Amino acid sequence: MYRKREIVRIKGNKRKVGCLGCAIQSGEVESTSIFIDSTKFFVANQDYEIPIPGFVIVAAKRHLQSVDEFTAEERADFIEFLTGLRKMMR
Ligand SMILES: [Zn+2]
Repeated sequence: MYRKREIVRIKGNKRKVGCLGCAIQSGEVESTSIFIDSTKFFVANQDYEIPIPGFVIVAAKRHLQSVDEFTAEERADFIEFLTGLRKMMR
């Protein structure tokens, strides 16, 4: 298990979570992001707290430390998803 740390949301509410990505994926922490699209392995959101045009957050649906942990299927899905998102932005 991961050591819990305190996060402070933009509205000032504080919460202790282990992995923020997993806490958002599980619904433990409410996401303030705006959903764009998803695949079997990844989800893309526009960050509500930092609404920079074109700044999209692509998150894995399972816990990962780094891209070097992607399976072959996740690697293929990730690059396909990323290029599709970029085409949508154009
Ligand atoms: Zn995680």
